[in-house]
Amino acid sequence: MTALEYANIIIDISHEKVDRLFQYRIPDRLKDKVEVGCPVEVPFGKGNTMRKGYVLELTDEPNWDPDKIKEIAAVPEDKLGAEDISIRLAAWMKRYYGSTMIAALKTVLPATKKQNIQKHKFVSLRMDLRQAREYYYECASKKNQKARERILAELLLAPDDRIPYELITQKLHVTAATLKSLAEKGVIRIDEEEYYRKPIAGDSDRYGAKELSPEQQGIVDSFISDYDAGKRDTYLIHGITGSGKTEVYIALIDEIIKRGKQAIVLIPEIALTYQTLMRFYRHFGDRVSVMNSSLSPGEKYDQMERARTGDIDIIIGPRSALFTPFPNTGIIIIDEEHESSYKSESMPKYHARETAIELAKLVPGGASVVLGSATPSLESYYRATTGQYHLFELKRRLTGGTLPQVEIADLREELRTGNRSIFSRRLQELMEDRLNKGEQAMLFINRRGLAGFVSCRSCGYVFKCPHCDVSLSEHRGGRLVCHYCGYEQPLTKICPKCSSKYVSSFRAGTQQIEDEVKKMWPNARTLRMDADTTRTKGSYDRILSAFASKEADVLVGTQMIVKGHDFPDVTLVGILAADMSLHASDYRASERTFQLLTQAAGRAGRGEKPGNVVIQTYEPEHYSVQTASRQDYEAFYEEEIAYRDLLRYPPISHMMSVQILSYDEDLGMQFATRLRAIMEQNKRDGAIFIGPASAAIGKINDVYRMAVYVKMDDYDGLIAYKDMLEKYIHQLEDMGKLKKISVQFDFDPVNG
Ligand code: ADP
Ligand code: ZN
Ligand code: ZN
Repeated sequence: MTALEYANIIIDISHEKVDRLFQYRIPDRLKDKVEVGCPVEVPFGKGNTMRKGYVLELTDEPNWDPDKIKEIAAVPEDKLGAEDISIRLAAWMKRYYGSTMIAALKTVLPATKKQNIQKHKFVSLRMDLRQAREYYYECASKKNQKARERILAELLLAPDDRIPYELITQKLHVTAATLKSLAEKGVIRIDEEEYYRKPIAGDSDRYGAKELSPEQQGIVDSFISDYDAGKRDTYLIHGITGSGKTEVYIALIDEIIKRGKQAIVLIPEIALTYQTLMRFYRHFGDRVSVMNSSLSPGEKYDQMERARTGDIDIIIGPRSALFTPFPNTGIIIIDEEHESSYKSESMPKYHARETAIELAKLVPGGASVVLGSATPSLESYYRATTGQYHLFELKRRLTGGTLPQVEIADLREELRTGNRSIFSRRLQELMEDRLNKGEQAMLFINRRGLAGFVSCRSCGYVFKCPHCDVSLSEHRGGRLVCHYCGYEQPLTKICPKCSSKYVSSFRAGTQQIEDEVKKMWPNARTLRMDADTTRTKGSYDRILSAFASKEADVLVGTQMIVKGHDFPDVTLVGILAADMSLHASDYRASERTFQLLTQAAGRAGRGEKPGNVVIQTYEPEHYSVQTASRQDYEAFYEEEIAYRDLLRYPPISHMMSVQILSYDEDLGMQFATRLRAIMEQNKRDGAIFIGPASAAIGKINDVYRMAVYVKMDDYDGLIAYKDMLEKYIHQLEDMGKLKKISVQFDFDPVNG
């Protein structure tokens, strides 16, 4: 329903032209039907031929002479097709995340460019068998007909009367010319058959559904009874690794498929979850496929076609798999829903979770969304406890294996008692023990917090912003800076709390740890996994399989090593710098730390032998460390949500980051200040403005980055601010005044 006069419409959604909008008048009779994203029929061009278009904007401002603006002819009533849904979703993303329509369309319509269709060529007999045999004897009796003899022999013996073309040319060494002449003589036929490129194939030992535990079955029953009653909802399954979530997903999908619907399964990163992928494949076989960035354009195109035409029922992939054009999506599953890779870092900066929920509303008949995690995001758990999502819990591990014994090593104490090594005494002792026994260890360094926070190594004191309660980062010139509000103070050399002089920024790398291991235990064989060692294709898998086959005793790595993959012989996990992520300069630091520590601790003792975990930290009493060591999610959640509440951070409130990118630092800062002023002049209830300040990563490729933050309980209020700024920015752009500056919006930012 709109009261506005005009609609700006795209007619042709080939990517290059979406920028070009055509304006039409909305006749009164259609005013209650036209809305952003909806398909319309409009007279187009000189001949006024009817074309289908989509409404992208509604406005009261005519673009030219109002008398010459044509009217929308109709709003088609039929149910939405896959393309209609994608366009609506793009319109929603544009509004909700503050991106351009082009960027949103490119995101939701990934592989529209038609690719070559793949074909197999076959050769089969055209004559009947008796004739063919006669012809065979005829060739066999002649000296210069050996090639023909070979083909005929092969065809006469072929079980399904046909042979792949390549086999004949390559194995039987028959030339294409010979085949052609045989075809012309009517002896053989050469046929072509289209086929889809299939990115997964593998062992076909299929596995049926497991008999579910009562807990698992309870989830499936409850979900299905909602579903059959027409209720579409969002469900969160909170269950530790190994509690059977994946098995529940498989059972849910089985049910959904029985009802003639399709399933989208999102996983954080294919490389990390190859084992999961293969489980789906072994259960669903050719009805499941995969989408990811390593597929060729042809493979991607074919998977889209397979989804469109009903050749598959299930797609698995990272966040972009959400845009698979199934005709009847019934369920969207997001595994490891807390992972930050579900948030796009480029425009539109969408989150797969919210986008999935929106998509679920748009598809015909509606879909349900199932989120799963051992350490749910604060967002999801908050919504589950406030009744917006439905919460399921899986409390038992189904695979046996004892939970590891977790100890916390206090690095302040180590220093005080004269241990300056990066390994605490307890970790050294356990390393020694495992190396002697021939068991394996993983050493994990948390490299999440890129900007170096500054702390006292003697008492653990961390320099924090008095206004935002996040860590200050060290900048050149001996300054400590807050990345939210820009607060600054000089870096002092003396700890304000205990007066020691062990104040320093915290830096340690995987390389340094590996060197240290080799120095202390010269016989230990080490492998290292980080951004450097996994740069080439396949290196990730090589390192993991080398470690799995016990080619090394110690695996040193970043957070990459804590995910997926079970190593039954790992009985020790050392977490060297828990504080790294604890003091990253953003409000999610504690949450990320809890997730990483919990996951890392879960790596030890997967097999028969019990495991040990040592968490090294300067802040042993921090609730993230404490609750992770007990694997107590609820306790962590209570502490963390109280902190978010106090400082109005998401999910209690919403936060918009207006990011300014500029080649000129001063100019960027000035502009950021202006943007803040514009919003403040139009102050809305409950809006809190912070900044501008240099962003967490202040400069990338010579482009300075700064940000202004707005916190508000009301998301729509943030959108209104965004619209206001966009309008202002467009005006400046039209005047050619914004050449050196660009602006991006990020809602409820995940990184920084
Ligand atoms: P999660 O996804 O929560 O990590 P999985 O579904 O992978 O858990 O289950 C963990 C292990 O337990 C897997 O090896 C799986 O095959 C097994 N498993 C899950 N459910 C059952 C069940 N109902 N009966 C027997 N084994 C099960
Ligand atoms: Zn101190
Ligand atoms: Zn601050």
